[in-house]
Amino acid sequence: MNGKIAYFSMEIALKSGMPTYSGGLGVLAGDTIRSASDLKIPLVAVSLLYRKGYFYQRLDSSGWQTEEPVEWVVEDFLVEMAERVTVTIEGRMVYLRAWKYDMKGINDFTVPVYFLDTDLEENSQWDRNLTDFLYGGDDHYRICQEVILGIGGVKMLRSLGYHDIERFHMNEGHPSLLTLELLDEEANKAGRTSIITEDVEAVRKSCVFTTHTPVSAGHDRFAMDLVTRVLGNREVLDMKDVFCCGGLLNMTYLALNLSHYVNGVAKKHGEVSRHMFTNYIIDSITNGVHAETWTSQPIQDLFDCYIPGWREDNASLRYALNIPKDELSVAHAKAKRLLIQYVNHQTNAGMDEDIFTIGFARRAAAYKRGDLLFQDLERLREISSQVGLFQVIYSGKAHPKDVGGKELIKRIHQLKSMLKGDIRIAYIPNYNMELGKMITSGVDLWLNTPQPPLEASGTSGMKAALNGVPSLSILDGWWLEGYIKDVTGWSIDSNDQDMDGVSDRSKDALSLYNKLSEIIPLFYRKQKHYVDIMKNCIAINGSFFNTQRMLQQYIVKAYFL
Ligand SMILES: *Cc1c(COP(=O)(O)O)cnc(C)c1O
Repeated sequence: MNGKIAYFSMEIALKSGMPTYSGGLGVLAGDTIRSASDLKIPLVAVSLLYRKGYFYQRLDSSGWQTEEPVEWVVEDFLVEMAERVTVTIEGRMVYLRAWKYDMKGINDFTVPVYFLDTDLEENSQWDRNLTDFLYGGDDHYRICQEVILGIGGVKMLRSLGYHDIERFHMNEGHPSLLTLELLDEEANKAGRTSIITEDVEAVRKSCVFTTHTPVSAGHDRFAMDLVTRVLGNREVLDMKDVFCCGGLLNMTYLALNLSHYVNGVAKKHGEVSRHMFTNYIIDSITNGVHAETWTSQPIQDLFDCYIPGWREDNASLRYALNIPKDELSVAHAKAKRLLIQYVNHQTNAGMDEDIFTIGFARRAAAYKRGDLLFQDLERLREISSQVGLFQVIYSGKAHPKDVGGKELIKRIHQLKSMLKGDIRIAYIPNYNMELGKMITSGVDLWLNTPQPPLEASGTSGMKAALNGVPSLSILDGWWLEGYIKDVTGWSIDSNDQDMDGVSDRSKDALSLYNKLSEIIPLFYRKQKHYVDIMKNCIAINGSFFNTQRMLQQYIVKAYFL
């Protein structure tokens, strides 16, 4: 089978109707696969099926989130493969099957994506449920899932006929148990049962690891007694230079120890990772998004007219500089109308197409600070009444166990009520790819307020840029590279003013208000200048922050090295 690169990810976002992802990690995986098929890269991808889906979000009138399983018919999207393999979990044989999705690129080249599933009659009820929930359950459930993804994934690929894989790419640490299976394969090939240094070297040559998390608490760690209970007593677990340390199996260290190439997902994140893991060489490849997937139809039509071939060659988006301003305005207005109509249909927010519209949509995690905009309600009302009207569109799910994230959503609902009559605010439930595209392409400004340095990259601002929508963002993640003052957008910069003794949060909010007070007048009164910035977003950032450029860097630096 033609798969030289095997790409493993705990989540992959292929379509809105397939609830196999929770956020940025899955969207990046999906966009990587889409670009691989466009570029005819012989890649094959592996993930888990998640029959219960990453959840249906219900928001009550107070904004409190509850979750329900997503009903989805697997057969409507995927084709069952005949092959069956087993993995050993706690001494039991657990049977796996795979479901295939063919991702077709612009030139009809396809990249197969296999979703592993344990829901088979041969398995006990507990084992059958192992591929039901993404990021659900406890450590025990999670490590069992990671055995299925890593070890089961390699076995399934072999059984499907993939014998010539040259690179195994671990997208984040979750799949890193695949290295165990590869070590076993090396030893078996040599007719040995124990693993020696040469095996470790051979595996290292074939593995690539991309880390995504800039805080160590975010890395999967399992107690060693849980690991040995699940995996059995394996000699390899005693190899200290492979498995590390203090009675814990850290999936990130496992991947670091067994990869010849490691990268963070933006230049700053590479730096942060080098500080976290001082004994390793860590490069960076900045994330991107799949250009066609994330541009609205009106903007695609405009590109087709002025930049033919942009889908095949995203770099040619730099010619967006030649698009007539009024035509870009008209195309954006169409995308904005679609969004406003949708929002008004879904909510009673009464949004107005002519009002400056701000978008904020992402996972409702505390570090993303979705409520920073509301730090000072008086100032916010003043901006709206004295500087210019604006309205805000929100969306995002909190992880079911993230009480802080749920409280954040509830708080935004409260603030929405408090500002009623002054500022129009909508919160759209069930954030997914489709909504992500509609919001990033339809607003006038993309707002991004993470607590630095916690945003490894962030990709929504890249989607906005492709649609000619500028960002107002904290200087973290990709925006440190994408931001050019007054050219591609604006920064929220707490170092703008000298304010000793004021909390970072207050400083950030103050900078945010000051910038908004500059941007809103531009939008209403210096429209030509605003459209120039929109063009720059496409030409300077859309042409670069895409997965086509990103994959080409993986090819040069990691895959065929
Ligand atoms: C793009 C996207 C994300 C990633 O958002 P960040 O900017 O990285 O926070 C998450 N969820 C969905 C549905 C998306 O489309």
